[in-house]
Amino acid sequence: MILFYEELCNYCGSCVAVCPENVINLVDIHLSIDRENCTDCAKCIKGCPIGALALERKGKIYYPEYEGRGLF
Ligand code: SF4
Ligand code: SF4
Repeated sequence: MILFYEELCNYCGSCVAVCPENVINLVDIHLSIDRENCTDCAKCIKGCPIGALALERKGKIYYPEYEGRGLF
């Protein structure tokens, strides 16, 4: 499941642009993710410039710095 850290977000829209499923909705300073239709592909995490998104999987939380270690 994708986690969103609202306090970090600057609402740049980068995650919206890279989401292949179009499940991220950004209106002004309100961002929401339709997790029912999210595939956990993690493209939005890698696309976020400030680490406001993460992936929770089996009780562990993965951030972009884990890229390249086989987790994404
Ligand atoms: S994990 Fe993939 S499908 Fe889900 S919100 Fe992020 S980019 Fe979209
Ligand atoms: S890419 Fe990151 S900072 Fe930009 S809108 Fe998405 S979550 Fe917020």
